Amino acid sequence: MSASPASQPWVNALSQLAGAVKILDYDDGLHEMLATPRREVNVAVPLRRDDDRIELFHGYRVQHNVSRGPGKGGLRFHQAVDVDEVRALAMLMTWKCAVVDLPYGGAKGGVGIDPSRYSLPELERVTRRYTTEIMPVIGPERDIMAPDMGTDEQTMAWVLDTYSVSHGYTIPAVVTGKPIPLGGSLGRTTATSRGVVHVTRAALVRAGDRLEGASVAIQGFGKVGAHAAQIFATEGARVVAVSDQFGGLHNPAGLDVDHLMRHVAQTGSVVGFPEADPIDNSTLLALEVDVLVPAAVDGVLDADTAHAVRARFVVEGANGPTTGEADVILAERGVVVVPDILANAGGVVVSYFEWAQANQAYRWTGDEIESRLADRMHSAFADVSETAARESLSLRDAALVIGVRRVAEAHQTRGLYP
Ligand code: GLU
Repeated sequence: MSASPASQPWVNALSQLAGAVKILDYDDGLHEMLATPRREVNVAVPLRRDDDRIELFHGYRVQHNVSRGPGKGGLRFHQAVDVDEVRALAMLMTWKCAVVDLPYGGAKGGVGIDPSRYSLPELERVTRRYTTEIMPVIGPERDIMAPDMGTDEQTMAWVLDTYSVSHGYTIPAVVTGKPIPLGGSLGRTTATSRGVVHVTRAALVRAGDRLEGASVAIQGFGKVGAHAAQIFATEGARVVAVSDQFGGLHNPAGLDVDHLMRHVAQTGSVVGFPEADPIDNSTLLALEVDVLVPAAVDGVLDADTAHAVRARFVVEGANGPTTGEADVILAERGVVVVPDILANAGGVVVSYFEWAQANQAYRWTGDEIESRLADRMHSAFADVSETAARESLSLRDAALVIGVRRVAEAHQTRGLYP
């Protein structure tokens, strides 16, 4: 579809799939089916600015696979969004939903806009126009959106409203990650981060170690990184370094995360926090820590940065933070990588709980959500870890093999129509 060479995230996603297909010994036809998105919608999103000028953005919704159920995946607002990135993220969602055994396929949406440069009313108009353009392919039984980078629960409220108004009645299950008064689930905001901490604990225990007292460095202090820092600290780990797009901090004795959160709320950045030394992002990636959590953009661990990593574990809070080359380098250096499709699946797990609650018109308690999330994350980690041990695979390959196999089995059992 795109004339330019495929971008890095899509190249990565295809090569991860090719690796799994090789292990599973699937034929070319099945490989091609798994590699090809089922449906891609490409829309123009015109915006009337507050000063009446018109600006045009490109929007996408890719449904990579729907063999196991409706498409599921976030909506991203970022200036670098293109169809290849959305394809890659949609494919990751397919494997992610299968690894944690949700009755979903994988999808993703994106608009090539830098949300920080637009007013709230402008973002509302962009969201509503985008929703209208992709309306025919979404819905509670077709494809369910959620927040991702650059979008939040307010964005989901606008999607819900636009979809519901056009259908003539309120349809809460069309999105997840919506505000709690509109049927959002308790625990959804922190779910991805909570899942990151669950799998980190499981990975440490697997290695005969424990989370209590482990040192953790977190790259990215957004929705995933900031909550992860808080939960790690509450669970007794030592958060020694964090960073955001403006800079980073290091305190080997451990940062006071609650104090840091107040600093970020006041200043908009981790930079300038008094109880730590300033460091840059590349130094953070190279710190000697037990656990490194990349929780920002994709591709931060590449052939250059991977050589410098001195963490024992990399737990991928972000989607696609490690390139294929970096994966090989980290494996050679004995660094255990807990892959994105397992490590950050807590978000979509609680999205599923939210959707299930909407379909039942019933609300679960916060405790129910947390214990069901913990069960799902621990049993998915156990599946992946057993497969890795039995078939001598990395955790990434084991997770991909489980996800790809479940999707292929659903596809084959349904049979090909006509
Ligand atoms: N955007 C999140 C992810 O990448 C959540 C997706 C969802 O909840 O549907 O996993």
